Formats: sequence, C-alpha cells, structure tokens
Amino acid sequence: MEVQTTVWETNRPEETFDLGKRLGEAAKPGDIYCLDGDLGVGKTVFTQGFAAGLAITEPVNSPTFTIVQVYEEGRLPLYHFDVYRIGDPEEMDEIGYEDYFFGNGVSLIEWASLIDELLPENAARILIEKDVEQGFDYRRITVRSSYENIRD
Ligand code: ADP
Ligand code: MG
Repeated sequence: MEVQTTVWETNRPEETFDLGKRLGEAAKPGDIYCLDGDLGVGKTVFTQGFAAGLAITEPVNSPTFTIVQVYEEGRLPLYHFDVYRIGDPEEMDEIGYEDYFFGNGVSLIEWASLIDELLPENAARILIEKDVEQGFDYRRITVRSSYENIRD
C-alpha cells in the first residue's frame, strides 16, 4: 500500500470547503479521515465541505455534547467525530467507536491525534495549518493517505 502526501494551499474558507467536498465525493465505505490542526484552523469548514460532497444537506457543526454525530441522508453514512473534549480514550469504547470505524459509512474525526492509539494505520491523515506570513486566511492542508480516491 503506497502512502502519498499531497499539500494543498487555500486562501479562503470556500476553498477549504471545496477541497473537503472533492474528497467527500470520492470517499468510499469504510474510509477514515483524521483531521488535525489548532482550534479555529478550519477542520469543521473542511468537514462541512466533505459532508456536501457526500450529498448531505443537513447543517453540519461540531458535535459539542456528543462525541459523534451520524448523518444518514447522503450517498454514504457520515460519522462525524469531534474528540476534543474526550478525557480518556475509554470514552471511545463506551460509544462503540469500532462499529463506526469498521462499518460501511465514512468516519471523519476532528482532533484525531488525541486518540492516536485507536486510529487504524491505513486511515487518511489531514493536517490543517496556518501561516501568518502568508495571510490571515491562508491554510496549508497536508493530506497523507494510501487511499486511491485521494489524488490530485
Ligand atoms: P476548527 O473546526 O478547526 O476549530 P472551524 O472550521 O470551526 O475551525 O473554523 C475555521 C474558521 O477560520 C472559520 O471562521 C473560517 O471562516 C475561517 N477561515 C479563514 N480562512 C480559512 C481557510 N482558508 N480555510 C478554512 N477556514 C478559514
Ligand atoms: Mg471544529
């Protein structure tokens, strides 16, 4: 399995949304997308695009009071995790995370590195970073994946 790293640069939220949308359109059952990056960097914007790419029309926000939010209406089920507030990876066991990760939908996890030990090795890793020297709305988005559906 060949791992490929691709770097995208965006200068507006809409561009990050569009990148998410393209990956959502190409996502396959069982795919897992791990999102990392500081607070306010654009993980949820990316996720909203991703959901649009799966033809989900419901509004998508970060699940604040639950670890996972399930969207069933699109081309594939989307399991949107935000594990920012997780105290202990045991909480993932309690919600039965394996049923999502190894199910037939697509998992997307904001703050994935907080549960690093639970992430399958072949999951796609997406890091979003700012660079103030490039401008306030600039984001560098590094995608590391072995999925054939993530190609530029
Ligand atoms: P996170 O989920 O990573 O905490 P959000 O997606 O909720 O972050 O918020 C990102 C914020 O950054 C939004 O207010 C968005 O409008 C803004 N933003 C500015 N430039 C960009 C960009 N290039 N890509 C994504 N978001 C951007
Ligand atoms: Mg978020």
